[in-house]
Amino acid sequence: MKNKVEILVIGSGFGGAIAAKRLIEAGCDVLMLERGPWRDTVPNRSTGMTDLAPLPQGTKAFTHGLRSIRSHLFRGQLVLNRKGFVEAYRGRGINVICSSNVGGGSHIYAGMLARPSNPAYWDGRHPQLSKEGMEKYYAEVIDLLQARAATDEDRIPNSIGETNYDGKLSTAGLGNPLIGVLFPKQAGTASKIIDAHGIERWECEYRNNSVLGSPSGAKTTLDFSVVWPAMQQGLAVRDLCEAASIRKLKDTDPDGMRYAVHYRNHRNKTDEIILAKHVILAAGCLNTVRLLFKSRDIDRGLDGMPRLGLQFGTNGGYFALWKENSRNDLTEGLPLCGPFRSAGSTSQSVQVLRAAIQGIDDIPMPAVLRRWLHRNSFIVALGKDNNNGSMNMNYGKFRIIYDKRESSVYQEIDYEVKNIQRATGTKIYAPGSPVTVQPLGGACLGTSNADGVVDANGEVFDNPGLYVSDAAALPESPGRPPSLTIAAWSANVADRLIAKLESP
Ligand SMILES: Cc1cc2nc3c(=O)[nH]c(=O)nc-3n(C[C@H](O)[C@H](O)[C@H](O)COP(=O)(O)OP(=O)(O)OC[C@H]3O[C@@H](n4cnc5c(N)ncnc54)[C@H](O)[C@@H]3O)c2cc1C
Repeated sequence: MKNKVEILVIGSGFGGAIAAKRLIEAGCDVLMLERGPWRDTVPNRSTGMTDLAPLPQGTKAFTHGLRSIRSHLFRGQLVLNRKGFVEAYRGRGINVICSSNVGGGSHIYAGMLARPSNPAYWDGRHPQLSKEGMEKYYAEVIDLLQARAATDEDRIPNSIGETNYDGKLSTAGLGNPLIGVLFPKQAGTASKIIDAHGIERWECEYRNNSVLGSPSGAKTTLDFSVVWPAMQQGLAVRDLCEAASIRKLKDTDPDGMRYAVHYRNHRNKTDEIILAKHVILAAGCLNTVRLLFKSRDIDRGLDGMPRLGLQFGTNGGYFALWKENSRNDLTEGLPLCGPFRSAGSTSQSVQVLRAAIQGIDDIPMPAVLRRWLHRNSFIVALGKDNNNGSMNMNYGKFRIIYDKRESSVYQEIDYEVKNIQRATGTKIYAPGSPVTVQPLGGACLGTSNADGVVDANGEVFDNPGLYVSDAAALPESPGRPPSLTIAAWSANVADRLIAKLESP
């Protein structure tokens, strides 16, 4: 097996998949390491791939739901199943959920794609970056994921228009987000289609495309839409391979290799090493920053990065149980519906959404519980927080510290949630510390070591040839679903590397 590569990409979510695709298309030699497995879905089966791991559907929710647990209280990770779906992290004042698959968070996410709330998000961050320069990437990713806004003609069950508590909830003036699912051509009839790459998938049936994955392929996940097509052009993918350490090579390598990446091959249960000229780190905010800390502070393989771990943000992530006791079957519809607010509220800064509890019909449980889950939902909110959390590594314990009282977005969310409870006569139960599914920052974009960890190329200031292309590099919360912005950043990192490689 090859042990040297021009470009090594760690992670296959929005930050990894988009960069790898562009680099392969430019003719680079690229290898991807992903700790999670390929998932058993209609599209992946149709590629002829074997050895697919189940999504946490039906009884597999119990065996393949949770992958691992991390906490600020102990070192390392408690791994329950290497092929499990979710990683849960408990920090001080914050809890984080992320996922583990080829295709990263695109399996668990709700498919909502949006630009930042501030249209000038990228302006003033770095002299080489601008809103105009980044806009082309947003447009390309929307096109690639074939995302569009839902319309009334789609006749989607349980839209807010249909479940607005006699007008007490409103979507007025809140915009209609883009959704990365395959909407049926004929509303109400989900057909199987074959896409431009010869991959089979089903149009959206509005029943099972949420946090337990999308077995039919109705949700446009990055595995079949980006990674697999890139493999047809030469991308090599090692799934179930978890990077453990990145070390700058001290001696000159005859082939110009600059980094050694040590990883655990969970398939063979062996520890392996790959050398690379360029390493693109895209393991998701939590794991990218953790890997950088471990590589620098414990393995002594990297230098500098004085601002590593700073500017951690939650994007105002909020997650709570919404006891609606609806007469409707709320599990039907898109994974997220909204944004909405209580009629009369003028808040524009926070977004409140209903998350349908989908995929529960095949999970063994008492009938009374199933009926109850069908009538209720989760309420999700987000908005721009102050990015004043921090991450660090202390005696091998990876810690995230966050205080929601320091970000007014949480007061706004609490206010909006109270209004919704009052207006609808329902109850909303939230944990004391927020749960975010959109962690970001910690290895942020800046102009130098004085204000960041990476430059406009995504390249780490003190470690040439090492790049961060995922959520960890975002210098501020977008205040809207972040995946589109992460994908745009990743495209920027790849294009700048391609330009560097092509320059004489
Ligand atoms: C329930 C839920 C719903 C969401 N809904 C939305 C939504 O509707 N819209 C939106 O914009 N965002 C949504 N998000 C957030 C979104 O999923 C993340 O912001 C996004 O996936 C982050 O992209 P990333 O590339 O930074 O990381 P990820 O997509 O998490 O990708 C990181 C990848 O790296 C892999 N990895 C980690 N460590 C290692 C290692 N050491 N070695 C090798 N591989 C490694 C992981 O397994 C993973 O596959 C949601 C998230 C959740 C959990």
